[in-house]
Amino acid sequence: MNQVKKGINTICTHVGEVVDEQFKGAISPLYMSTSYAFEDVAIKRYPRYFNTPNQEALCLKIAALEHAEAALIFGSGMAAVSTAMMAFLRAGDHIVLQRTLYGGTYNLVTEEFEKYGISYSFTDGQRPEDFEAKVQENTKVIYVETPSNPLLTITDLKAVAAIAQKHRLVSMIDNTFASPVNQNPIDFGIDVVIHSATKYMGGHSDICAGAVASTKENMERIFHLAKNFGGSLSDYTVWLLERSIKTMGIRVRAQNANALQMAEYLYAHEDIQNVYYPGLKSHPDHELAKAQMKGFGGMLSFELQENLNASAFQKALQLIKSSMSLAGVESTVLSPSQTSHALLDADERERQGIKDGLIRFSVGIEEVEDLIEDIERALEKVRATIVTTTH
Ligand SMILES: *Cc1c(COP(=O)(O)O)cnc(C)c1O
Repeated sequence: MNQVKKGINTICTHVGEVVDEQFKGAISPLYMSTSYAFEDVAIKRYPRYFNTPNQEALCLKIAALEHAEAALIFGSGMAAVSTAMMAFLRAGDHIVLQRTLYGGTYNLVTEEFEKYGISYSFTDGQRPEDFEAKVQENTKVIYVETPSNPLLTITDLKAVAAIAQKHRLVSMIDNTFASPVNQNPIDFGIDVVIHSATKYMGGHSDICAGAVASTKENMERIFHLAKNFGGSLSDYTVWLLERSIKTMGIRVRAQNANALQMAEYLYAHEDIQNVYYPGLKSHPDHELAKAQMKGFGGMLSFELQENLNASAFQKALQLIKSSMSLAGVESTVLSPSQTSHALLDADERERQGIKDGLIRFSVGIEEVEDLIEDIERALEKVRATIVTTTH
């Protein structure tokens, strides 16, 4: 059976499950055992070998979701990112990374790589030629994030994959923001796909996990390091994640629809200056997003008009919580300059176009009318505090 040919919701619901032979239950039984009798000496089942029944089943589901030959799941998104990167880098090697990176990945590279003798370059922009411009003789990996955090810029996957192939590099993407529902980078020639499963795969703000998907050959290499690094995921969390992914298709599609409506509403609003959402026709990368994404995702950013106080606005929201993380069924906002990108200095933030008043919005599955009402009430409150000077 060709799993790739199945529709997204069928993969989410059915592919990669532990069959309950004993009781014929509808869902995967949970095997918490850390010790398994030898079936034969070649198969040693152990949680840190990433091969318990629940782990193996979920890896099949994630591989099918990403149109990959194989996948592995990890204890966090950063365990997935670090293991995938390190599997293809050694002392003396170089990696080219997109400048606008998830904060944790930026920290991993800038705080840790030097001591392993690995050098790195950040691109100046997100165009394919910006990546190629940084390729050196010792470059081994090109690392992409699209849509990017927090401004939702889009990188051309096909073009970057072609550059990687031309220079015989491994191309990697952090596909967290899109989720496998909206974007399958392997279809465009990208080699390794990484997810923080803490986000859309988990979707309920109650799971911390990561995933990597690629060819069998690449995954063998990543597995070898993963076993030594030891970042495996507890079987209980694996089981919860399997349950969460069953509804990922319908969750993410609902979030796509809500985010588009919210983006259009904000774009038309006189209190809002800028809205960053790849689904808007006004977004500079809209056509590219249409060409490589199936939906535009549940993440957007916006800036209030300059006379309105962004942090007072966030505090005035009631339904939409101001909090870390993203991609849950509940809507949340945060201020990148004060949270996710607070560790960058002001110059670097400016270079990336992240203004102090920028608000990142993770749109949930609530009714759009209720989200709009919450925003209207908060804006009213913030407008009331403006001190108008009369001459
Ligand atoms: C959250 C996140 C990560 C890191 O995942 P953790 O599960 O927190 O370790 C990596 N990349 C992106 C884009 C993220 O949003």
